Amino acid sequence: MKMSALFAPTLKENPAEAEVISHSLMLRAGMIRQLSSGIYNILPLGLRSLEKIMNIVRRELNHADGQELLLPALQPGELWKETGRWDIYGPELIRFQDRRERDFCLGPTHEEVITDIARKEIRSYRQLPLLLYQIQTKFRDEIRPRFGVMRSREFIMKDLYSFDRDYEGLKVSYQKMYDAYSKIFASCGLEYIAVRADSGVIGGDVSHEFLIIADSGEEKVMRCPKCLVASTQEISDCPECHAGMEEKRGIEVGHIFQLGTKYSESMKAYFVDQDGKEKPLIMGCYGIGIGRTMAAAIEANHDENGIKWPWNIAPYEIIIIPVKLKNQAGMELAESISQQLAHQGYETIWDDREVSAGYKFKEADLIGFPIQVIVGEKALKNGTLEIKIRSNGKRIECTREQLVSVIK
Ligand code: ATP
Ligand code: MG
Ligand code: MG
Ligand code: MG
Repeated sequence: MKMSALFAPTLKENPAEAEVISHSLMLRAGMIRQLSSGIYNILPLGLRSLEKIMNIVRRELNHADGQELLLPALQPGELWKETGRWDIYGPELIRFQDRRERDFCLGPTHEEVITDIARKEIRSYRQLPLLLYQIQTKFRDEIRPRFGVMRSREFIMKDLYSFDRDYEGLKVSYQKMYDAYSKIFASCGLEYIAVRADSGVIGGDVSHEFLIIADSGEEKVMRCPKCLVASTQEISDCPECHAGMEEKRGIEVGHIFQLGTKYSESMKAYFVDQDGKEKPLIMGCYGIGIGRTMAAAIEANHDENGIKWPWNIAPYEIIIIPVKLKNQAGMELAESISQQLAHQGYETIWDDREVSAGYKFKEADLIGFPIQVIVGEKALKNGTLEIKIRSNGKRIECTREQLVSVIK
């Protein structure tokens, strides 16, 4: 891929509307554009990163026996009236009527829809446990949409729902998801903390939030500097080692809930157990904000020049930069290196533009390619390439033959 063909409208200045660094960098790197308050166009670079996060999520959830499906965003109000949430959810729920004056909403979450499937299709304990998930667009009319895709009104969420025979089963499903989340966030280059949380309007008893520590976080977390025990409650001393707790800010990227029978009772989702008795399904639900995870990854991985993408979620992995303007041999070498690496399975771009080397370096830093391969004077003289590793700024010289081993 040629840089001149890439649709990434970059910006030089920090956009005035961006209050947090991830929002600013996503706009500047040409990843997103606002359409309306809390509603975003996702441009090619943004989508490539989102797709990678979604695929990491899929890999880990499938590995934990999750099965992907796709539910409608458009939901009949009837279902929400059955659980009582039509009245409880408040103005965040986007409601309207169809041409026959029937109530509808745009799904902010999908407990009602999935429980409707469960009550129709799950008859016997033999069908349990069952873990179903989707990656889909959610709608919430947030009172204060802000920070770009971090808190928007339309956003992509992964939501998984677990169905078990009993509370023992629920605990197993819950732990599976807890472990899958740990792997997902680690794969995205994020250090998370899990804290006991309030279940809010989703409901249930036990719930944990997965938070990324960042100054721009909207949640207050108390953390023990010694044993790293964390809590969203105001505790005085650490319950483990009694050291004083530090106050930090956290971004909620994931939230898991043991729902129990809240939805299965109200919507009459029963199954026949081994003892022949009808029992309510025991449910759990598990969300991850995909766009918010991408934003949090930028909050955690950037410097004053731009994004430092963790390899696994970078829109592209490697940029090849010929530095000499109008030098045919340099251009050809860069293109051929790009093609070679692409052939070996890397996602590459080469900067074919007739702009200064300084400008190319600036944009490469801003967009945050994990690896820059610089084709300079030495490359033409004796074949020496310079590799810049974006995450730590290290520069390594190597030959073309050594390239792949250096990148690894
Ligand atoms: P918050 O407290 O930030 O409003 P929430 O507790 O309302 O989030 P959940 O209902 O737990 O959110 O949804 C699961 C996940 O969806 C959240 O952990 C978050 O990652 C993501 N999410 C929630 N609201 C938004 C939003 N407005 N924009 C982007 N992602 C969101
Ligand atoms: Mg919310
Ligand atoms: Mg919350
Ligand atoms: Mg939450």
